[in-house]
Amino acid sequence: KKLGVALVGLGSYSTYQLAPALQQTAYCHLAGIVTGTPQKARQWMQTYGIGAEHVYDYDSFDRIAADKAIDIVYVVLPNSMHAEFSIRAAKAGKHVICEKPMAMNVGECDAIMAACREAGVKLGVGYRLHSEPYTREVKRLVREQAFGRVRFVGADAAYISAGNPDQWRLDKSLSGGGALMNMGVYAIQSCIYGCGKNPVSVSAREFSTRPDYFRDTDETITAQFEFPGGTVGQMMTSHNAQANRLYASCDRGWFELQPANNYGPLSGRTSEGPMSFPHESQQKLQMDDFARHILEGTPNRAPGEMGKRDMVVVEAIYRSIREGGKAIPIDLPEGYGMGG
Ligand code: NAD
Repeated sequence: KKLGVALVGLGSYSTYQLAPALQQTAYCHLAGIVTGTPQKARQWMQTYGIGAEHVYDYDSFDRIAADKAIDIVYVVLPNSMHAEFSIRAAKAGKHVICEKPMAMNVGECDAIMAACREAGVKLGVGYRLHSEPYTREVKRLVREQAFGRVRFVGADAAYISAGNPDQWRLDKSLSGGGALMNMGVYAIQSCIYGCGKNPVSVSAREFSTRPDYFRDTDETITAQFEFPGGTVGQMMTSHNAQANRLYASCDRGWFELQPANNYGPLSGRTSEGPMSFPHESQQKLQMDDFARHILEGTPNRAPGEMGKRDMVVVEAIYRSIREGGKAIPIDLPEGYGMGG
């Protein structure tokens, strides 16, 4: 049986990535939509052959509990709405995929995880890269210590934001923060899977060059990590630069992905030569992995704990910036949130 997925929020990611990917998936399919815009509802029903009984708006959403065609609710809304709709989905008895960043803060992540636990449903975060072959190869090189221990890991995740300064990503009440909440989580992720460990402390600095445009969200942040066992790390995230890279230097060699976190195809090489993997839709791979986790008990590649862990790091980075770059301890259990 293919599991039915309902997308909540039909913005650009749902429209241009997730819905097309759900036409290619083998273990799940697009079965429902949740939107506040009747015109979009009509369009999607037509394009994807969705019956009116599987279409909801934000008020009628809870009725999805009785919809047997929907197994998974995928929350693709602005960050401030992730917790509310993930919790309502869990209470409706549906498995949940929540987009990144998982929520506005660690407390909301805990609330989502508790709701899913109580409802007995699975929870995944929209971290598509954990299903992507170059990223999986990096995780293998680290796990098997193919080049020895990672001594330094660096990651950059950034793009130049232009256009409407009132977009939700630049409105702190809807996004929770700027570059760090948007692209920064990819740099945090790269540093962590690039060395296979959670950081024990972070020291960070914020740079602002376009305050008229970035009115209440961070523009550029750099941060230095200390990892257990002596590995050091460095990341940069920005809404005012173009960068997309992971680099790790090990005892006996190095590896690099560039680009490291876009929709692909990614590109990578090691000190021994180029990597080469076939390209497939990352979103297709991600949603099929999550469906197989439900159907067959395969590992959850990006569980709720991973989203919470990244939010712990985000909060430590913002705190370091507030405290003038002071090193902030990060208290995460070893291996917490690493996923499958
Ligand atoms: P978007 O602005 O294109 O779409 C947001 C959707 O939410 C729209 O359909 C909009 O109508 C709806 N919405 C409901 N209430 C809203 C409000 N108060 N303000 C603004 N929009 C409102 O955004 P997007 O790029 O689709 O991002 C949605 C989520 O997906 C975000 O959490 C984002 O971080 C995440 N995302 C993840 C990836 C990824 O690669 N995993 C890529 C893009 C976006």
